[in-house]
Amino acid sequence: MLILVGILLISVYSISKVHTYEQCNCISEKVELKCFKCGEDIEEDYIYCPHCKERLKRACEGCGRMINIFWRQCPYCE
Ligand SMILES: [Zn+2]
Ligand SMILES: [Zn+2]
Repeated sequence: MLILVGILLISVYSISKVHTYEQCNCISEKVELKCFKCGEDIEEDYIYCPHCKERLKRACEGCGRMINIFWRQCPYCE
């Protein structure tokens, strides 16, 4: 009986291990950003979408950093 439980535990362990490995595999390291207008892939530091020319970022009046055009408040300054 003990051996049976042991085998069961090992198989559950290996299944969860495989599952975690699969999860790691499908989550890419880079977060894929999409243009809110055309849905094409964009990079985080793009100011304009190269596909549809939509403006993605604006310069903060306070600190001059490029921030998301939808942000109402710059996260870098008051
Ligand atoms: Zn676009
Ligand atoms: Zn700012």
